[in-house]
Amino acid sequence: MKPFTYVRPADAKAAIAAAGASGASFLAGGTTLVDLMRLEVMSPSALVDVGHLPLSQIERRGDGIRIGAMARNSDVATHALVVERYPLLAQALLAGASQQVRNMATVGGNLLQRTRCPYFRDPAVPCNKRAPGTGCSALDGYTRSHAILGTSSSCIATHPSDMCVALVALDAVVHTRSGGRDRAIPIGEFHTLPGDHPEVENALEQGELVTHVELPASPFAAHARYVKVRDRAAFAFALAAAAVGLDVADGRIRAARVALGGVATKPWRSLEAEQALVGQPPSRASFERAAAAAIVDPKPRRDNAFKVGLAKNTIVRALELAWGAP
Ligand SMILES: Cc1cc2nc3c(=O)[nH]c(=O)nc-3n(C[C@H](O)[C@H](O)[C@H](O)COP(=O)(O)OP(=O)(O)OC[C@H]3O[C@@H](n4cnc5c(N)ncnc54)[C@H](O)[C@@H]3O)c2cc1C
Ligand code: SF4
Repeated sequence: MKPFTYVRPADAKAAIAAAGASGASFLAGGTTLVDLMRLEVMSPSALVDVGHLPLSQIERRGDGIRIGAMARNSDVATHALVVERYPLLAQALLAGASQQVRNMATVGGNLLQRTRCPYFRDPAVPCNKRAPGTGCSALDGYTRSHAILGTSSSCIATHPSDMCVALVALDAVVHTRSGGRDRAIPIGEFHTLPGDHPEVENALEQGELVTHVELPASPFAAHARYVKVRDRAAFAFALAAAAVGLDVADGRIRAARVALGGVATKPWRSLEAEQALVGQPPSRASFERAAAAAIVDPKPRRDNAFKVGLAKNTIVRALELAWGAP
């Protein structure tokens, strides 16, 4: 690990000021950052610890909910408001990592976790995300875990988060604070596509602190499901995941949400699948049509072509479970 300065700011204002310096990085639970520092994939010159800041409340806000950026993943997953009103979020969080990691990991850190692309995590090989302009080792490498949606010729890495897939399906808004301003960023605009600059992964500026996430009232609590397909039951990232919600009235789907994980370069919402569901009866046939509509212009590579079919099957299964199929 390269040397760094440790800063424990008194409050959010001091944290933002300290993290505004080039090379500085916020530290929350450390489960991504410290790991990557040990590998010398990330080498911040200063760590600005924000884990102790009073930003961990989970509380009702109007018809919705507000979740502090320092709330631990385990606390969010088991909070009564989340379990009752946003079971999709609870399910997605519990599908991630392990209880020990969830006890440390924060909402802010989860939003900003880095890809698990093995080439990104190996400083000995080229990677445009880690070292811009060096090339992408995955393009001619082993691509089983890589993305089929949202890719570019510069990067095909998947976004690793389970939580963020649920947040996309739930229309979350990420609230941030920097120098003199507060921002509210819709989750769909928070993460960016790799394009020519895979090193840019989100809409944040240097020193901009995520303070909390807000979820609006959700009509999907009764019929929502997160399904994650992975190689083993713990400590495995998604090969494909689907977060879905159905709002059904008089035998027809009034509104739907379909978001995908494990197959795209950012948490992926499929408006095409949602449109295919609206107005239809909740049935296997309508779920299959929606799944077919969800995968638009995929770019599979040698080892991950199976994800096209797997993603569709995962959507169908999630919709069936959300609707109550055995
Ligand atoms: C063994 C293992 C298995 C895992 N499995 C899964 C899994 O299956 N699914 C899954 O989704 N995740 C998984 N994870 C990832 C885990 O969810 C993340 O590491 C965790 O959520 C990161 O949160 P943290 O608080 O520890 O962040 P940190 O490591 O402290 O920070 C991560 C990044 O976020 C930035 N940051 C943190 N807080 C803020 C803030 N408030 N504002 C601005 N920037 C901020 C930091 O600067 C850093 O760049 C796994 C991790 C491990 C170690
Ligand atoms: S896929 Fe992205 S993260 Fe992986 S090696 Fe290529 S540029 Fe790096």
